[in-house]
Amino acid sequence: MTIHKQHSLSDPVTVLHGVGIRLQEKLERIGINIIEDLLFHLPYRYIDRTVLTPIGTLRFGYNAYIQGEIELTQVRYGKRRTLLCRISDSTGTIALRFFFFSKAQEKGLQRGLSIRCYGQVRRGSNSLEMIHPEYHVLRDVQDDGLEKKLTAVYPITEGLQQTRMRKLNEQALITLNNDKKNMAELLPEKLLAKKKLPTLIDALNYVHRPPPNADTQSLTEGTHPAQQRLAFEELLAQQLSLLELRNELRTEHSPAFNVSTKFVPEYLKSLPFTLTNAQVQAHKTIASDLNKTVAMLRLMQGDVGSGKTVVAALAALQAIEAGYQVAIMAPTELLASQHYNNFLSWLEPLGINVVFLTGKLKQSIRDSVEAQLKKQMPVIVIGTHVLFQDSTRFAKLGLIVIDEQHRFGVHQRLALLEKGKQHDKYPHQLIMTATPIPRTLTMTAYADLDHTVIDELPPNRKAINTSVISNNRREDIIERIKYITAKGRQVYWVCTLIEESETLQCETAIETADKLTERLTLIKVGLIHGRMKANEKESVMQDFKKNKIGLLVATTVIEVGVDVPNASLMIIDNAERFGLSQLHQLRGRIGRGEIKSDCVLMYQSPLGDLAKQRLEIMRTSSDGFLIAEKDLLLRGPGEVLGTRQAGMPEMRVANLIRDAHLLPEIQNTAKKLLINHPDKVKLLIYRWLGKSLSYSNV
Ligand code: ADP
Ligand code: MG
Repeated sequence: MTIHKQHSLSDPVTVLHGVGIRLQEKLERIGINIIEDLLFHLPYRYIDRTVLTPIGTLRFGYNAYIQGEIELTQVRYGKRRTLLCRISDSTGTIALRFFFFSKAQEKGLQRGLSIRCYGQVRRGSNSLEMIHPEYHVLRDVQDDGLEKKLTAVYPITEGLQQTRMRKLNEQALITLNNDKKNMAELLPEKLLAKKKLPTLIDALNYVHRPPPNADTQSLTEGTHPAQQRLAFEELLAQQLSLLELRNELRTEHSPAFNVSTKFVPEYLKSLPFTLTNAQVQAHKTIASDLNKTVAMLRLMQGDVGSGKTVVAALAALQAIEAGYQVAIMAPTELLASQHYNNFLSWLEPLGINVVFLTGKLKQSIRDSVEAQLKKQMPVIVIGTHVLFQDSTRFAKLGLIVIDEQHRFGVHQRLALLEKGKQHDKYPHQLIMTATPIPRTLTMTAYADLDHTVIDELPPNRKAINTSVISNNRREDIIERIKYITAKGRQVYWVCTLIEESETLQCETAIETADKLTERLTLIKVGLIHGRMKANEKESVMQDFKKNKIGLLVATTVIEVGVDVPNASLMIIDNAERFGLSQLHQLRGRIGRGEIKSDCVLMYQSPLGDLAKQRLEIMRTSSDGFLIAEKDLLLRGPGEVLGTRQAGMPEMRVANLIRDAHLLPEIQNTAKKLLINHPDKVKLLIYRWLGKSLSYSNV
């Protein structure tokens, strides 16, 4: 055991054993600068390596730790080279599949050896499989070598290993327990007692290193009191920061833009349709907000296809006419470029300068765009998060539009406001989301925002007919695709998130595309997934738009915003594994034109009761708000669902759906703290959100 020097929580991570400049840089990338930051870098899940699961009892979809003897290892050459390794114990057999492997790895997996693996159990073509499991070959089969505790899994970044993170965290915990006085308890004692919650220090120790007798189930679900306590504090900090920000903004000034008399009327005249009443209302509200010297901070919610972009364009025109710059930010390159093309075709004829800025652009192009923004010239810039990176400076930013808010965390939103601030004036901010956010959540998670809802779809929309079909009717569906595409229409085939790993999701999509290409010889099958380069995605999307691709196999990268009106059929594979709101978003990709559209929710049978109910809601409703409310209700604990949620800002421990029951108490506590303990308020915000933000002017 090494003797650790006594460090303090506020020391830079470089004082820790094993942290050199390279590691420090990596840590900095994920917001870890001082030792205390390591403690608030919380595990996002746990691996249970305390028990082995007999292979014969494995259930697909679940993660498991297994042990077996290697029966066969071979490289398969097909379209893709794969390494296949079959292992078995006395109860059953499972295949391990690797798409990327070395010669040494292949040699190491010799027949007869015993091996332990951890991974997600999937249904393969002939048997159960694990794809790219973590594994090690056992030297000594007698030694049980099982972990005594749950293993924490941390969010990491490229080039940073879990084991490294765990070791650093170990040192941080030692520091914490030697330097307790510097980890202030900020929650009222009464509250902790009433809610039976542990202190901060106990909670931190617990979640990083759950003891051997820990309640595995509740830890995995995130409902353990230690996690709930941290979630409470995190949500509280967030609530406080939003309230503070709102207060601050009320006292700050923003540039007021006159109601547009030139560009807005011209643009409206150029559109091939008239605005819906809901669009007119939203536009009026926003126009009057922009006309005030108080910063607008408005969330515009509207179902997919309700026409939010047009309303945003109207807001942009008002700012431009007043001589200001507008930044429009989208969550993905694809969506940004789609917006860019729309805005270009709409607004260039009006003589407005529209530019595009993403990280994937050539440096020289980027430089020239950035140079334009530094001039006091009205311009609309559309891009991804690079818009608020350090190198980008705006000379006269008057309005920020954020599309699909849920991909941006709350603190990114705040950082953006800070960034746009000039001469003590904040730009106005309009946030658009298609994800209906249940009212209970808007009250708290978006407490700093005013709300506008576009509750009406353009009149030309045809209802989408949704059906729920078992996976063993795949053949029928393939026939249907042939029929539809023969008529010149197009089809989406969406491979949903089988598990959290994006790589696996891409693998599934690649496999599916291969199979469908074999079956559908008369049409071109395209493929789009998150691992592709932005320009590749862009060109596939363009081909799909131009109807050069008849069937597009996609991962959920198409979830937001993509607009191809000729696509009239969507098949969602493994639909039961998906959140309802996300399904709703996906479904919104069709029914965008004059053609009647169909959505097929395909499930792996057998389907559980809860899953049945959920899919039934999708079949019978097209109301995004209703779907969101039901989704919230039906997400019983224990139901296997992706942990990522649409519509929710990113948080370290809290989960707005799971922890919704804490919200009333959090609102209460926030109010009390603001009145009685402004000092604690600052500390809380700083602890959870504030490190990258400047609150110097608060
Ligand atoms: P979303 O709210 O999902 O962002 P968009 O703004 O992308 O929706 O609009 C979806 C489609 O509907 C676009 O092709 C857009 O041009 C069209 N659209 C918008 N408003 C109307 C309207 N009032 N009448 C007819 N079509 C409209
Ligand atoms: Mg949109």
